[in-house]
Amino acid sequence: MTWTVASFTALLETEFPPRWAEPWDRVGLVAGRPEQPVTRVLAVVDVLPSTVAEALDTGADLIIAHHPLLLGGVSSVAATTYQGRIIHDLIGDGVALYVAHTNADVAKPGVSDALADALGLLDTRPLRPTEEGRGFGRVGRLPAPLTLGEFAHLAAAALPVASWGVRVSGDPARPVSTVAVCGGSGDEFIPDAVAAGVDVYLTGDLKHHRVADLRASGGPALVDAGHYATERPWLTPLAAWLRTATGLETIVSDTTTDPFGFHACATLDPVA
Ligand SMILES: [Zn+2]
Repeated sequence: MTWTVASFTALLETEFPPRWAEPWDRVGLVAGRPEQPVTRVLAVVDVLPSTVAEALDTGADLIIAHHPLLLGGVSSVAATTYQGRIIHDLIGDGVALYVAHTNADVAKPGVSDALADALGLLDTRPLRPTEEGRGFGRVGRLPAPLTLGEFAHLAAAALPVASWGVRVSGDPARPVSTVAVCGGSGDEFIPDAVAAGVDVYLTGDLKHHRVADLRASGGPALVDAGHYATERPWLTPLAAWLRTATGLETIVSDTTTDPFGFHACATLDPVA
C-alpha cells in the first residue's frame, strides 16, 4: 500500500482521535500536503532543529511528535521566528509533521502505559479516568514489593533520566508495591494518587510546595524522573504499532530533546 499524508493521518486519528485532546491542546497535522507520499516515519518527543535534521538524515518524510510545535496563538510563520524557521525547513524539505499530545496521553495504550510497562507494572488502570477505560496516568502494582530506594534505582535504570538521576521524596526504606505513574507534568494528579492509596507516585516536573504539602500530610512517596524521561518510552511502542499497521519503516529518534543538558554539584565538575 502506498501511504500519503492524508491516509496516514486518517490511520493516526483512529488510534488518537483529536477529540480526546484537552481543550487547550493543539493536535493533528501541523505541516504537509494531503497528497504527499509517506515512506518513512520518525517518532520524536519534541520538534526541534535537531530532530528535523534527524528526519532529513534518516530519510523520514513524516515526523510524529508528542509536543505541539505551535501551541500558543500564532500570527506569523515567517522564517524570522524560531517556529517559523522550523515550519519552513519542514515544508522546504517535504517533511510532514503530525502531533499526538493529550489525546495520546489518554489513549489506551498511551504515553503512561509505555511508562508503566518500562517500570514493569502489572494490572494497570487509569489514574484519572476520562471515558471508556481511558484516562490520564496509570496505577498498577510491582511484580514484587521493593523499598522506595530500590524503586528509585529501578526507575533510574529503566528510564532515559537526565544526568542527575531521579529526585525522591519519602523514606528510602519505605516498602512500595502499588505505584501510580504519569508521563510528563503530572503535578496536578497528586490528589488522584493520594485517593488511589498508592505507595509511590512517579512523574515529572514536581513542584516544591506541592511535594512539601504532601510530605506534611503523609501520603505516597514521590519520584520526579523528569518530563522527557517519562514520555520518551512511548516512542518505542508507538513506532512498533506504526510498523505493524503501515508496513513502513518507523524510526525512534536517537536525539535527546530533554532541555536540561547537564548538572553541576558543589564537589564535582559539570557532568554531561
Ligand atoms: Zn510532555
